[in-house]
Amino acid sequence: MNKKTVKDIDVNSKKVLVRCDFNVPISSEDGTITDNRRIKAAIPTIQYLLDNNAKVILCSHLGRPKGEFNQKYSLKPVAEELSKLLNKEVKLATDVIGESAKELTSNVKEGEVVLLENVRFHKEEEKNAPEFSKALADMAELYVNDAFGTAHRAHSSTTGVADYLPAVSGFLIEKELEFLGGALENPAHPFVAILGGAKVSDKIGVIENLIDKVDTLIIGGGMAYTFYKAQGHSIGTSICEEDKLELANSLLEKAKAKNVEILLPLDNNVSAEYSNDAESMIVSSEEIPEGFMGLDIGPKTIEKFEEVVKNAKTVVWNGPLGVCEFSKFEVGTKAVASILANIDATTIIGGGDSAAAIEKLGLADKMTHISTGGGASLEFLEGKLLPGIECLEEK
Ligand code: AMP
Repeated sequence: MNKKTVKDIDVNSKKVLVRCDFNVPISSEDGTITDNRRIKAAIPTIQYLLDNNAKVILCSHLGRPKGEFNQKYSLKPVAEELSKLLNKEVKLATDVIGESAKELTSNVKEGEVVLLENVRFHKEEEKNAPEFSKALADMAELYVNDAFGTAHRAHSSTTGVADYLPAVSGFLIEKELEFLGGALENPAHPFVAILGGAKVSDKIGVIENLIDKVDTLIIGGGMAYTFYKAQGHSIGTSICEEDKLELANSLLEKAKAKNVEILLPLDNNVSAEYSNDAESMIVSSEEIPEGFMGLDIGPKTIEKFEEVVKNAKTVVWNGPLGVCEFSKFEVGTKAVASILANIDATTIIGGGDSAAAIEKLGLADKMTHISTGGGASLEFLEGKLLPGIECLEEK
């Protein structure tokens, strides 16, 4: 997948509509942005366009305003933050495709930035309605998608506009394609995938797609217990998807047929209650007592996983290996984060809880790539074509 980027087109004096992911957390108390990382991540593409004399028009969604104008979801705080980060005024339109947007975008000059209001103020956005896509496109001459987090959604601002404008990627999407795409298309071996999280059902597509590519698949977290039960072990009160037992067995068989090693936890930190304060003990996976649930991987498992991961040349990780919301049961997730930080391999983190664990430990800059999209990276790893990327021009 080799998509054109902003560097492959002439942006000089052109009006460029950039779809960003400014869906940042906003404090319900004082309306301030509590984490500006997504805004910071968009700066390189915006700065490149400014440096190359483009007229920049930004758009994004924020939260779920359900197709109605609602000031609670206004991009005003984003415009202010962007002004600070870019050290220049960012004019915010009071609407998306209305009079204010039209006026600001028709007068935007080279080196200036306009931000449209929240695209989800219109219900047509999520419906990918052609007339709304066209109205967005009419304000610009080129389209850049840099919002990987919404690239798995075929909406007007992520996909529809590309029907009317030349469309390329920004640097964020370029980086996602380089690393996530690189891992799927041409990984250095040994290639190890680590999958955790609560449910097998959420990760079936990823497991099926990765089984054809990896050398070892490590399964931890709540998911592992469905696999154990499927093999006839008793798992106490551990989380389990009864309707996925057959599927779990068929995935294990498929892996065997392809010579892919599947590693499940050897031991677990189990407790009688789903609570951070409950007493817990380490037991082997074959000996989970009645009335106890596995809430984290145990020390032998961490050791075994480390042994395998240490030799890897590519590692993809998605999903925590225990109930990481509880400090008592985040030990396995933290340990794996530290192991990945210290190996000589391409390490790719698929967003969500695993990315949060790495950020919390201050290990983000020790990873090769942390995806900016949870759902999007999962669909990418499933091998699905993401509409927000498919619509971009090939190199
Ligand atoms: P996911 O969104 O599928 O990556 O799942 C993340 C969730 O999995 C987190 O909220 C964890 O608490 C949960 N999880 C991980 N391990 C376990 C476990 N052993 N039992 C129950 N939930 C778990």
